[in-house]
Amino acid sequence: MQRRRLLLRWAAPLLAVFLFARVDARQTSQPFTVNFLPSAIYPGDVVRVEVPGIDTFDVGVFGKHTKDGLVGIDLEVAPGTYPIRVEAPDGRVAMRSLRVLPKAFAVRRLQVAPGFVNPTPEEVDRIAKELHKTEGIFHTTTLRKWSGAFQLPVAGTPTSNFGTRSYYNGQRRSPHTGVDFVGQTGTPVHAANNGVVVLAEPLYFTGNTVIVDYGGGLYSLFAHLSEIDVKIGATVAPDTVVGLVGATGRVTGPHLHWSVRLQGARVDPLSLAAATKPQTR
Ligand SMILES: [Zn+2]
Repeated sequence: MQRRRLLLRWAAPLLAVFLFARVDARQTSQPFTVNFLPSAIYPGDVVRVEVPGIDTFDVGVFGKHTKDGLVGIDLEVAPGTYPIRVEAPDGRVAMRSLRVLPKAFAVRRLQVAPGFVNPTPEEVDRIAKELHKTEGIFHTTTLRKWSGAFQLPVAGTPTSNFGTRSYYNGQRRSPHTGVDFVGQTGTPVHAANNGVVVLAEPLYFTGNTVIVDYGGGLYSLFAHLSEIDVKIGATVAPDTVVGLVGATGRVTGPHLHWSVRLQGARVDPLSLAAATKPQTR
């Protein structure tokens, strides 16, 4: 009897603390609203994170952090639910889930000359060095320079071939990580937003290439240029001409290939333009 009373004496306050903690956790776990744009999210998307009433907040997802309100879903991220943590400047934290839906990218099967598929050992060496260099750039985060909406670098409608999986003579190649604007050689290519030129040289696959660093881990790569019109270190604005459309590198005809990287993630440039467009609400 005494043991039961003793148990009650201890259990009741413990239970009260437990219940209170549960209610408390429920109240503080979602202290503010978090919106994701677009609401249906696919691999390759740039997602805009919004917290009504709070301009700057920290977003943590995929093991990375950003204060710029943009999250890149790499085009090979597995569909599923990923935890995302949003922290307000006053320390309040909201935990949410980012649901990445499955997407069927187009598949392209091509028969090409064997030399097109198998580079020589010297070329393999060059490709590896260039990949090391560009990946090093894409995984560097500098201070944010971009602001407002991203403009398309050239006029016209790009082909919607972001993420296309290609097989050359049955061999799987890397997925297509950009969009292509078919255009005439010599058409000016613009920088799309404010940034700094961090690469301006010919590369094996992408020919005459310019990479612009917009800061915050956000980069554009402009490929196959007939001419490069900027130097490394140059500050660029959205309408700065970085080069001209061409057919340099591994291409079959003149076009602009535009790729975007966001904190390393390979994302659809058109999704970046959409995510940074002013909201009409
Ligand atoms: Zn392309």
